Amino acid sequence: MSLLVVGSVAFDTVETPFGQAEEVLGGSATYFSTSASYFTDVNLVAVVGEDFPDKHINFLRLRGINLDGLERTGGKTFRWQGKYGYDLNEAHTLNTELNVFEHFKPKLPEHYRDADVVFLANIDPDLQRDVLKQANKPKVVAADTMNFWIESKKDSLIETLKYVDILLINDSEARQLTGEPNLVKAARTITSYGPKTLLIKQGEYGVTMFNSHGIFIAPAYPLENVFDPTGAGDTFAGGFMGYLANTMDFSDTSLRRGTVMGSVMASFNVEDFSLNKIRDLDYKEIESRFREFKRLSHFEDI
Ligand code: AMP
Repeated sequence: MSLLVVGSVAFDTVETPFGQAEEVLGGSATYFSTSASYFTDVNLVAVVGEDFPDKHINFLRLRGINLDGLERTGGKTFRWQGKYGYDLNEAHTLNTELNVFEHFKPKLPEHYRDADVVFLANIDPDLQRDVLKQANKPKVVAADTMNFWIESKKDSLIETLKYVDILLINDSEARQLTGEPNLVKAARTITSYGPKTLLIKQGEYGVTMFNSHGIFIAPAYPLENVFDPTGAGDTFAGGFMGYLANTMDFSDTSLRRGTVMGSVMASFNVEDFSLNKIRDLDYKEIESRFREFKRLSHFEDI
């Protein structure tokens, strides 16, 4: 089934206690579509500048990602610079340069419009709605966002949420969006904005899913070496949505499997800088880590 994503394609400059990477491939749509490409066909909508090298385009194409909706225009590609301390759960944004995203007007190619599933990755909420308006009644709409948009465009974000079925957000963003420190209460407020399913990502502490069936909690994979958490949220979303778009089963059982699949993909991503670890995974590695997750969190009744 087809999965449409709009989000950023970027150059990231990242510093963690374990090393640094300068102007490497990043962006919410890049991580998302690379991760989702292991499960389903992905149609990408984004913009890059004239400084974006062909090697990155070729990589995305090799992963089978449809790039008909990737516009290349005059100007510079979006850039993000971030830093992490020993608490890798918290990214400190040092600089955000919107560049070509400032005047971007997404135009969906005709063959993108019938997408069954749409993912509005982290990007200006106005652009998220622009894309949604051009899609013909998708069956499921999911979205992500970040503190930058909660601070600068909260009203627009809340407007977007009216059209969203599934929201993926991290714990500090859920608190910031609602002004509510308790996550269970914050979840209730967010579901009243529109999304009936909400996934709150808590970095190394895992993910909590809230929906009408109740609450599901998946752990994060206990890795010994975490090098760079950049893109973990988008890679999680790619595994989660890719799995769901492939099965088109949005039952609670399937949402739970998707949550674990997202955690599997994110666990690979944080093991190296940029997309280095998830560029070329063997599907057997993915399945085997999925089973390890099952063993990790399984216990018998008393
Ligand atoms: P994550 O670590 O999953 O939250 O996402 C990190 C990615 O988001 C990086 O690769 C950045 O390029 C991208 N990013 C950072 N800030 C923004 C923003 N304001 N809008 C869109 N994408 C962003």
